[in-house]
Amino acid sequence: MKKYNFNAGPSILPREVIEQTAAACLDFDNSGLSLMEISHRAKNFQPVVDEAVALFKELLNIPEGYSVLFLGGGASLEFCMVPFNFLEKKAAYLNTGVWATKAEKEAKAFGEVVEIASSADKNFTYIPKNFTIPTDADYLHITTNNTIYGTEIREDIDSPIPLIADMSSDIFSRPIDVSKYTMIYGGAQKNLAMAGLTFVIVKDDALGKVSRHIPTMLDYRTHVKKGSMFNTPPVVPIYSALMNLRYMKAHGGVKAMQELAEKRAEILYAEIDRNKLFVGTAEKDSRSLMNITFVLKEEYKELEKDFLDFATSKGMVGVKGHRDVGGFRASCYNAMSVEGVEALVKCMQEFEAMH
Ligand SMILES: *Cc1c(COP(=O)(O)O)cnc(C)c1O
Repeated sequence: MKKYNFNAGPSILPREVIEQTAAACLDFDNSGLSLMEISHRAKNFQPVVDEAVALFKELLNIPEGYSVLFLGGGASLEFCMVPFNFLEKKAAYLNTGVWATKAEKEAKAFGEVVEIASSADKNFTYIPKNFTIPTDADYLHITTNNTIYGTEIREDIDSPIPLIADMSSDIFSRPIDVSKYTMIYGGAQKNLAMAGLTFVIVKDDALGKVSRHIPTMLDYRTHVKKGSMFNTPPVVPIYSALMNLRYMKAHGGVKAMQELAEKRAEILYAEIDRNKLFVGTAEKDSRSLMNITFVLKEEYKELEKDFLDFATSKGMVGVKGHRDVGGFRASCYNAMSVEGVEALVKCMQEFEAMH
């Protein structure tokens, strides 16, 4: 039976990206050696990093003056590296979920933190709209896609102070105006590559402005200067990222990814809104195109396990919602086909007919 992978992360990747990475793990570049056993400083590996950086810049239309870094540690390490490198006195945070809260918590160890708005009052089911950005803060931190709650900021907001965004789960799902951001970062395992890789896009001239000592490994300047090669980078995950960057380019780039995301989301949200059993959890104007969250209506709540079992029996994988929200979550990253979403919709309709 065909499986449809709706996992939230690590998550679905194009089959050919997985096959190409697997092949390189057996024999990299006709060297007779595995990608796992070569030096990151090998002559034939540097072109992998160079091409990945170049494609990153090309696909996201990154202007001059920005560096693309490939690091370890996950988005979670960035939560502390961001204040280490940018917080001198005061930082502003928009709290839209668990990941945003974690980022904010790390910053508190470095200076004053202003939470400019929060949607915690309604379990993060919406993106706050009315907030004032303090012009005396060193930066504003936002989380563009809230993986757990299925909400998303889908435009590049105007900020009078440097804007820093965690885009772990929606990078490459739409064109972005990078010039509006001082830094963008994320774990690669949602929409870019296998787990083990962190990507960072940073404006070079924004670095070096804080007065504190920054440990070498946590200083972005170290990695800018050394081209992500200060220490051993995650070699295999970088290769998988390159394969996916090539795949995205060959399939129309981020504009095409956006159209696909809109199409998938339209189909699935339409069914959630139509089906008598289900209801979406996020407010309509805050809905994510990447993580689509829904629950059973109050009167059908007892069917939760039945629907999960039914969906699993039809080949749906990973549709169980995060424990903070309950119900169901269909993560629809770039590699999810429209056919996959249609299969899930069919499941929901069949289940509705049974009840
Ligand atoms: C998954 C996720 C994280 C955590 O990423 P790690 O790489 O596991 O540290 C942070 N932010 C968002 C928005 C996420 O979806």
